[in-house]
Amino acid sequence: MEKEDASEPDPSRQRNGVVGVLYGEFTDTLNDRVRYSVSLTESALAIQKISSSPGRTKVVFNLTDCIGCRAYRGRDSTDIGAYFSAYFYPFKRRWMSSGVARQRVEQCFRVALVQDPVANLQEAERWAHAIRDASVQQIPRRDGVVYTEVRRPCRVMVLVNPHSGRGQALQLFTGHVQGMLTEAAVPYTLVITEHQNHARELVRKADLSQWDALVIMSGDGLLFEVINGLMEREDWEEAIQTPLGILPGGSGNALAASIHNYSQSPPAWNEELLLSCGFMLCKGLVVSLDLVSVHLASKQRVFSFLSLAWGFVADVDIESEKYRHIGAIRFLMGTLVRLASLRVYQGRLAYLPIKEAPKPPRNSIKTSPPPSTPQHHSFCTSLPCRPVPNTSPNQNSLHNRSSTNSNHNTITNSSNNAITTKRPESQSNSNTRGPPDSLLPGLDQPVPESWTVVREEDFVLVLAIYQSHLAEDLWTVPGALANDGLIHLFYVTAGISRPALLRLFLAMEKGAHLACGCPHLVYEKVKALRLEPLSPQGMITVDGEMVEYGPVQAHIHPGLARLICG
Ligand code: ADP
Ligand code: MG
Repeated sequence: MEKEDASEPDPSRQRNGVVGVLYGEFTDTLNDRVRYSVSLTESALAIQKISSSPGRTKVVFNLTDCIGCRAYRGRDSTDIGAYFSAYFYPFKRRWMSSGVARQRVEQCFRVALVQDPVANLQEAERWAHAIRDASVQQIPRRDGVVYTEVRRPCRVMVLVNPHSGRGQALQLFTGHVQGMLTEAAVPYTLVITEHQNHARELVRKADLSQWDALVIMSGDGLLFEVINGLMEREDWEEAIQTPLGILPGGSGNALAASIHNYSQSPPAWNEELLLSCGFMLCKGLVVSLDLVSVHLASKQRVFSFLSLAWGFVADVDIESEKYRHIGAIRFLMGTLVRLASLRVYQGRLAYLPIKEAPKPPRNSIKTSPPPSTPQHHSFCTSLPCRPVPNTSPNQNSLHNRSSTNSNHNTITNSSNNAITTKRPESQSNSNTRGPPDSLLPGLDQPVPESWTVVREEDFVLVLAIYQSHLAEDLWTVPGALANDGLIHLFYVTAGISRPALLRLFLAMEKGAHLACGCPHLVYEKVKALRLEPLSPQGMITVDGEMVEYGPVQAHIHPGLARLICG
């Protein structure tokens, strides 16, 4: 929304149609004596109060911010006038705090050009139609991103998990989103899930020809169900093309925070994030969404849109479930609790890097941390996950390994590593439907030669993520896109101090963790990976949902699904 000084003649008043698409004069809905001149161009609705005083202010609403417009008769049957209301969600300064966020602005006018109520309604409808049409053409798009649009009129199934987050998803939907869908004239059917896997079963059997989009009002867990339900169908290839929408209603709203971030909007939380995602849903732009196929030890294969985590991140996610009632802040609570009893896990990690790096000499070390860096091995002497002694890094540095044999270095084609290497022969076939994972051998086979095998075996966490955000306030991969075709692999090796780990998570709020210069944090862009936990106990999560503990491997499928995203 912009304000302009309108003491100059308004060019859109020219009736020759060169500048203005539509021009009209209407009255205020509450006061007939207040009149406005309204002009609609291809990109904006300009409103100016008609008054005799000079220097009148013109308010200009950008149609990229408009989700709909409707015409209607007045409630009073004796009213000969008709009305039209346009619904905008421009960025406006926050009332109590700094920054801007999308906020609802309704612009409503009374049309009483003639004494005939039908003719007035027709004029109101002509305006509503023109504003709607122009708004559909004006969708905020990001340069370089390929978009399609949802079919219109769009029939949407909205799945709500009433227990997600603080148990308020349904109230949030009725309080904030329902009205937006009505304003945007999007017909929807509300489905309230009754139990875990209800949504999964429902979409597995649904007649998808009835739906133009499936929208999830919950945390990331319900979308995980829906994606896997679609991938379990015989017609999975077509089913997974159904546009998916996400509205933050859970405690873990990573995808919602990610799509908000992809729209290049300033950071938003809670209801502001919901409004932003509701706005994107009403605009109906669709981008492709990468999925990652994850193989579990039991040969089960699941499809993931967000993350595969082991160690600290998985522990925090699952252990903080009990603080669900406090909402997204549960992750901060969980982080502090888990930091207090920091664990180290033993395991093996290997991955296929996105670009073939020039091969270093066999068993040579790619990088080494500065000699003064405290080494994690001082903490680790036995296999099972174990608490880190509460000692300062300097005390532990007495027991450091030499820097040439140190922590997060990687080697390729190591013959003495348990993740041995081999040319890809057997592709891992799974019992579920979906595309073949051509880069993966069976879990019982060695990884191919082209893979990088991490020498390190002591980890605080391993996190593979394919969206920008791990939670509303964890901007884990600043450059990530929904369809960049990348698994962003992070791991933190043992030896990191508690303050350093806390610093990483605090810096992640602003996406600044990689700039911390932490020698224990490693980041790689990969196409596939394998993780073999050796510690007998631990947790692995996929999209925040706990899966069986054991060896796992993952393979990216660029653009397999479709996502409603501004
Ligand atoms: P949150 O972000 O709050 O964890 P999720 O959407 O991730 O919210 O949902 C949490 C879990 O609840 C998921 O495992 C999901 O499958 C499950 N679930 C979905 N619907 C229901 C329901 N009606 N009752 C219980 N659990 C459900
Ligand atoms: Mg969840």
